[in-house]
Amino acid sequence: MPRPIQATIHTAALRHNLARARLAAPEAKVWAIVKANAYGHGIERVFEGLRAADGFALLDLDEAQRVRTLGWRGPILLLEGAFELRDLELCSRLDLWHTVHCDEQIDMLASHKTKVAQRVFLKMNSGMNRLGFTPARYRAAWTRLNALPQVDEISLMTHFSDADGARGIAEQMAVFAEVTRDLPGERSLSNSAATLRFTSVKPTDDLPGDGSIASDWVRPGIAVYGSAPDFPQHSAADWALQPGMTLTAKIIATQSIDTGASVGYGSTFVAEKPIQVGVVACGYADGYPRVCPTGTPVLVNGVRTCTVGRVSMDMLAVDLSAVTAAGGHVGIGSDVTLWGRAANGLVLGIDEVAQSAGTVGYELMCALAPRVPVLVAD
Ligand SMILES: *Cc1c(COP(=O)(O)O)cnc(C)c1O
Repeated sequence: MPRPIQATIHTAALRHNLARARLAAPEAKVWAIVKANAYGHGIERVFEGLRAADGFALLDLDEAQRVRTLGWRGPILLLEGAFELRDLELCSRLDLWHTVHCDEQIDMLASHKTKVAQRVFLKMNSGMNRLGFTPARYRAAWTRLNALPQVDEISLMTHFSDADGARGIAEQMAVFAEVTRDLPGERSLSNSAATLRFTSVKPTDDLPGDGSIASDWVRPGIAVYGSAPDFPQHSAADWALQPGMTLTAKIIATQSIDTGASVGYGSTFVAEKPIQVGVVACGYADGYPRVCPTGTPVLVNGVRTCTVGRVSMDMLAVDLSAVTAAGGHVGIGSDVTLWGRAANGLVLGIDEVAQSAGTVGYELMCALAPRVPVLVAD
């Protein structure tokens, strides 16, 4: 028997989450962001769930090739653009749209030999200070691009640093709007947080936001995978998002722990009263964060309980008291949901586990280890 651990990709949940993003920006076309192998889910595994998107956006040329191999003929956008001249040849061959964020990329375009002009997204650094032309240099870059025969349509793009936080997007929006006021072309501004929090539809109790942001293309990533971009202010459930991935394993041993006895490496957990623990076939080599302390939430047989002691490479331990109290058998073979949806429908948000680890849901899903078998479900 294979080691009892498995990740499940929920196709219907991905479809639902994509529709949810559309609901927040009904005027916009949607890039489903599938960089980093679809945030760890696997591009081939999410394709069916996300194929209602208007385009796929990613960074890696290999990943773009894989999307084309799946039969996708629609738009694909390279979010970091070309890294070297050769990449533009692949853009021509695979009909990829690409971001232009620096002068060197314009130089490359100018020396690219192509009969078919390319669609580009010109990126403004409106305050994030990662990629893009500063507001002062943006229009000159646009003019230069516009003069190149290699360039077809120019779209305008920026990225928010604080769409998920208190600072919000107002300052960057103002900069972008001012500089691009009379420039033609489609606009793309919003990641998940901006799409959901600053929805372009009239805000309601269910859909907060100030209705101030409308664009031609939104770029949701994390939301389509069912994690809240602004946890803990909002949970995935608050945003009506469903987990795109469930990580489950089984209990492979149980131990009766007496008062004063410890569990796991370093004896970091010492029992204050006698407890039953289950040993679960999931460890940090599966992508479960080692830094998760005692008390990290977990579901056993769909009942909420928590981890005890340190996470080791291949195993972790969970407190079975709450599960026993809830009735029913628990022991070797019982199902443990590390994050996602249990068989009884109860959901443990990946964001809660990430919070215990001092990180975000993004990092956990991206870190799912290759050794974990993955099932694609409806
Ligand atoms: C990753 C990325 C996104 C998606 O961000 P989420 O927070 O996952 O929605 C959008 N735009 C760009 C440029 C990105 O790199």
